[in-house]
Amino acid sequence: MAWFTRQKPPIDSDPADDNEKSIRTEGLWQKCDACGQIIWRKAVEDNLNVCTKCGHHFRMGARERLKFLFDDAVFTEHDSGMRSTDPLNFVDSKSYIQRLSDMAESTEMRDAVICASGLMNSRSVEICALELKFIGGSMGAVVGEKIARSIERCLLHKTPLIVISASGGARMQEGAISLMQLAKLSAALMQLDEAGLPYISVLTDPTTGGVTASFAMLGDLNIAEPGALIGFAGPRVIEQTIRQKLPEGFQKSEFLLQHGFLDAIVKRPELKNYISNALSFFLT
Ligand SMILES: [Zn+2]
Repeated sequence: MAWFTRQKPPIDSDPADDNEKSIRTEGLWQKCDACGQIIWRKAVEDNLNVCTKCGHHFRMGARERLKFLFDDAVFTEHDSGMRSTDPLNFVDSKSYIQRLSDMAESTEMRDAVICASGLMNSRSVEICALELKFIGGSMGAVVGEKIARSIERCLLHKTPLIVISASGGARMQEGAISLMQLAKLSAALMQLDEAGLPYISVLTDPTTGGVTASFAMLGDLNIAEPGALIGFAGPRVIEQTIRQKLPEGFQKSEFLLQHGFLDAIVKRPELKNYISNALSFFLT
C-alpha cells in the first residue's frame, strides 16, 4: 500500500498528524511492485489493474473479472447463498465458523467463488471466478459444489465453461472433504469433455495447491496471465525435498509455458477476445 506526503497544497489535514502541512494521500496513488514507479490508482483501475508504465498485472477480484468478461458487465450469479456447514468443527486461531462470518463481512461473499452465466461477445457462457481474498481463494465443499453445478448448467444448456483461478489450493479447515473436490470436479469435467463442450482454464496470480492439481490444469486450453505464480507445492518445500536450487523464474507462467505446462500467456486486456476466439474455434 503506497502513500506519500505532500507539503502543499494542504487540502485536508489529519488532526492526528503533528505536521499539519503534510497530508496522506493513501489510496490515490500506488507503487508498482514490478517497475517501482508511483502510478495513479484510477489509471491502473481503468487499465484492468495492469500497470500503465510496465504492464505488470496486479491481482483482480472475482467480481471485477466477471464484469469485464461478460458483455456490458451483465451476468446472473448462481448459488450465492451457499455456505459451508463446518463439517469438522474446525478451530485454529479462531473457529472456522467465525472465520467464515468475518470473511462474509469483508468480502460480501459466502464462499471463495462466484459462478455466473451470461454473454461473452454475444455467446452464452458459464464463468466461475475464484476470489483470493476469501480465505486465500481456497477450495472447500462449497467451491467444489458451485463449480460442479456450473458444469451441470453447461451440460444442460450446451454452453462452454470458463474458470478463472486465483487460489492457495484446498481448504485446510475442511480437510479431506476439500480434497474430495479434486476428484469430484475432475469427474464432472470429464462429462463436459464427453459432451464435446469446451472448458477454458485461466490461471492467474497465484494458482497453487489442490486447485492446480485439479480443474485449473484440466482445461482444453490452459492459459495464464503474465507473471503469475503457478505451482503445486511452494518453491521452499520443493528445494528442501529435492535438495537442489530451483532455476530462476521457476513457477512463473513464462517458465511453465516454456516447459509445456501451459498453452498460452494472454495479457488481461486481450483476454476476453482471446477466449472468445478460442471458443469460436472449438465450437465450429
Ligand atoms: Zn509497473
